[in-house]
Amino acid sequence: MRRISLLTAGALLSLGAPRLTAQARGEAAADTVYDPIKDLVGRLELEKYKATIKGLTQFGDRRQGTERNRKAVDWIEAQLKSYGCPTGRVVYQWAPLARTAGRGGGRGGDAAQGGGRLRGIRARTGVNSDSLKQPDPAIRALDTEQTTPGERQEVYCTKVGTTHPEEMYIVGGHMDGIGWGQAANDDGSGTAVVMELARIFSSPDVKTDRSIRFVLWNNEESGLNGARAYVEQRQGLQGKEEPAGSGKYPEPKWLGMIQHDMMLFDHGMPRADGTLSPEQRPEADVNIEFAGASKFADEAMKLAWFFQTSNEKYATDYPARVGQHMTNTDSDPFKDIIPAISLRENERGEQIGAGWDPNWHQPTDVYTTYSDKDFRLGLNAAQTTLSAIAKLTGATVIKK
Ligand SMILES: [Zn+2]
Repeated sequence: MRRISLLTAGALLSLGAPRLTAQARGEAAADTVYDPIKDLVGRLELEKYKATIKGLTQFGDRRQGTERNRKAVDWIEAQLKSYGCPTGRVVYQWAPLARTAGRGGGRGGDAAQGGGRLRGIRARTGVNSDSLKQPDPAIRALDTEQTTPGERQEVYCTKVGTTHPEEMYIVGGHMDGIGWGQAANDDGSGTAVVMELARIFSSPDVKTDRSIRFVLWNNEESGLNGARAYVEQRQGLQGKEEPAGSGKYPEPKWLGMIQHDMMLFDHGMPRADGTLSPEQRPEADVNIEFAGASKFADEAMKLAWFFQTSNEKYATDYPARVGQHMTNTDSDPFKDIIPAISLRENERGEQIGAGWDPNWHQPTDVYTTYSDKDFRLGLNAAQTTLSAIAKLTGATVIKK
């Protein structure tokens, strides 16, 4: 079957092969064998990752349907172009639907969003809508314009594969935010992972067999509307050569979708008094989730474990854990079409839903809230996705 082969053929099998060879040779240590993936992972730098997040925060919370959001889209596109990654935009219309039920309505007891159970101590969650809770007058002023219905745009860029330009993996994060802060973590941190990967894969000495599309979704916070617009407009264009005979594929066939949403903060469970540890917990991890109830659950599960294995091999500091309750992020509209996973600082339903991130949609989600230990978790997520995608797309580095 086509959809099984895309994950198991080559990629999963060959991952183990070089290791066995090195072991068989005994004295030949792994680091004496040139590994292009290790080379590429080494090009990720904490300071560059932080600088990209900082750059995004100049547009405040980047709320959809505002001037600051449009300026952020322009800024992201300028960065992607400067990396040598050719860009495109998805244009769509958006207006809010009349609300029929409150957020989280219908769930009771210990049921977590997306499945699973809430355990242990819980703290309050919600979206801040009070401007006066933002103590910094400059940020408050920046976030003042409210959203209006109308046209929306989101930007993507593409690394074109050399032998299979007609197939691609989609790597995404959402660039819009809410809550009267700077959306530094939600989702400047995921957007910056995607942008850093676009930068590294677009380097002139990097070649991939298959294509990679880097997408910065808009309108995630209003209900995944940017990702839904992408699926609606482009699902039917997959794999078509345009114009015929040109070797160009405006929408390569989707092989998998990998979303990055809130990558920095894993300080553990709230304490009994509702406060959290001020420090990143040493056992912090990257949570890789797939949707156990989705049409492509089996393939998505394999993809998730492949990412976990890539983390074990290439991520420098923090491990990755796999869970089956992917929910409430832009990979959701893809999950019944292709294998889709998300990477996060915590499990979305059971942990973030139980208040493990006190800055979530709050005025405290600003750049200065986070320490290098926090930013490093995001960097480890970038290492995880970069190494996995490099393997899946057959990335090589052209030696001069
Ligand atoms: Zn988010």
